Amino acid sequence: MKFSIPRFWRERISHYRLKAAKCRVCGKINYPPSSICRYCGSKDLEEVYLDNEYGRLITWTIIHTVPDGFDEQRPRIIGLVELINSKVRILAPITDILPEELKENMLLEPVLRRINEDGEAGLIHYGIAYRPVIKTIGREE
Ligand SMILES: [Zn+2]
Repeated sequence: MKFSIPRFWRERISHYRLKAAKCRVCGKINYPPSSICRYCGSKDLEEVYLDNEYGRLITWTIIHTVPDGFDEQRPRIIGLVELINSKVRILAPITDILPEELKENMLLEPVLRRINEDGEAGLIHYGIAYRPVIKTIGREE
């Protein structure tokens, strides 16, 4: 059976999950996922997901000008996050913290955050963001 999945749905899935490819030969994680291991050239890879992994903050940048629809997130912090187990480095929004509170190497946990909203179509897109672990103790959402 053939059917087409609407584009937004596919994108939504990819935004929800941090998909990577783990090499069965050398054990390294390829991110973004690829069909050939960029470390050893093997084609024997399996899909893995990194979105439950804690990370640490390597460095970050503050964005003061953000596109329409992002107003409530100003200023926006984009961090370079190194995931603890896989050592994969990704760029992702850092949330629930003020820029002056950011520290190198701080422990971060992944959270699902609204990244934008398409008012006309009524769609809300979500993506992975990271927030400091220490600030979430005893807090309800
Ligand atoms: Zn490999």
